[in-house]
Amino acid sequence: MKVLVINTGSSSLKYQLFDMKAGKVLAKGLCDRIGLGHSFVKQSNDNGNNFQKEMDLKDHHDAIKEVIQMLTDEEYGVIQNMSEITSVGHRVVHGGEKFYESALINDEVLNTIKESIDLAPLHNGPNLIGIQACKKLLPDVPMVAVFDTAFHQTMPKRSYIYALPYSLYEEKGIRRYGFHGTSHKYVSERAAILLNKPYDTLKIVTCHLGNGSSICAVRNGIAIDTSMGYTPLDGVPMGTRCGSIDPAIVTGLIEHDNYDAAMLNDLLNKQSGVFGISGISSDFRDLDEASKKGNERAELALEVFSYSVKKYIGSYAAAMGGIDALVFTAGIGENNSAIRKSILDGLEFLGIEVDEEKNNLRGKELDISKPGARVRTLVIPTNEELAIAKETVKILKK
Ligand code: AMP
Repeated sequence: MKVLVINTGSSSLKYQLFDMKAGKVLAKGLCDRIGLGHSFVKQSNDNGNNFQKEMDLKDHHDAIKEVIQMLTDEEYGVIQNMSEITSVGHRVVHGGEKFYESALINDEVLNTIKESIDLAPLHNGPNLIGIQACKKLLPDVPMVAVFDTAFHQTMPKRSYIYALPYSLYEEKGIRRYGFHGTSHKYVSERAAILLNKPYDTLKIVTCHLGNGSSICAVRNGIAIDTSMGYTPLDGVPMGTRCGSIDPAIVTGLIEHDNYDAAMLNDLLNKQSGVFGISGISSDFRDLDEASKKGNERAELALEVFSYSVKKYIGSYAAAMGGIDALVFTAGIGENNSAIRKSILDGLEFLGIEVDEEKNNLRGKELDISKPGARVRTLVIPTNEELAIAKETVKILKK
């Protein structure tokens, strides 16, 4: 069984081909600068061969065509014929309120994704185009949509209703949705397997800390709260995104400084976060280095980030009546032991106790807790593409 996973952006398309039986990635690649000129495709195969080609990809249809060409190419390919692709899993960012889980793509599902475009115009539009292009080229292959929001759809109303006029929820769907759901689901399920405990008996806090970051509370296998909101701008400060701020800052900038929507979008999404505080970089490696050299704003940015994550862990412990496991994942969560340490310092009262030596290890699934600690603190590399491939197989088996 070979599953192709597609993740479409506005001008890029990432793909991975999994051999589910052998449990490995046969090839992964990227089509970039779609529709922008100087487009290119690069692919790395499991045998260590890497390829890159420049070509004109005028739209996503061209890109998918090229993906199939690359995968089946005599020289670069990993399969002989596109009929070897048994199914396709598409990452779709927003499933609105309709999707609690992944869905086999049919006309009704496509229409619902279309209806959610307003909720995530930068993502759902391209996701839809990717699905349509794929359907044209592989019309007989079953396809599954895997939504970033679906895992969070189990949240109770008290977690997702904003204290705004209720009509904004009813008429415009303004509520907390949450994102990174595929990752939170994958690492929380892995945590239960690693702890050898039933998933539906555990209280888990998952910290997906990367360029975009979100925290999720999972009680008895069900997401009950998460830090990202109506959009992925809410919650903890991120690389360049502000996270939660007082909304009056926004109205103040409009009233007193003539900011318009485009300026605010740029400010809050691209000029803020740890980049905004430090003025140096959105990359935590650069901030670590600058902070070691005595740069106070880099140090402050790291502190603001860690403090915010710490507060979410505490609040989710309160929401669930304690924690059994805490999971770190994504670029920062998996690799930055200093950030993990500063997040965890002072959380011993919750039963979190970390072994410093284990915390300094990296690269694979780890339990970094002290032997007798009440809460198991785990580092679990996320693998959203593998999770999408597994979801695709699961949905098709149903
Ligand atoms: P992501 O969005 O998950 O790719 O995460 C990006 C963030 O992870 C950046 O801020 C990087 O500094 C951090 N990161 C990625 N790899 C490493 C690494 N090997 N060591 C330290 N930080 C890393």
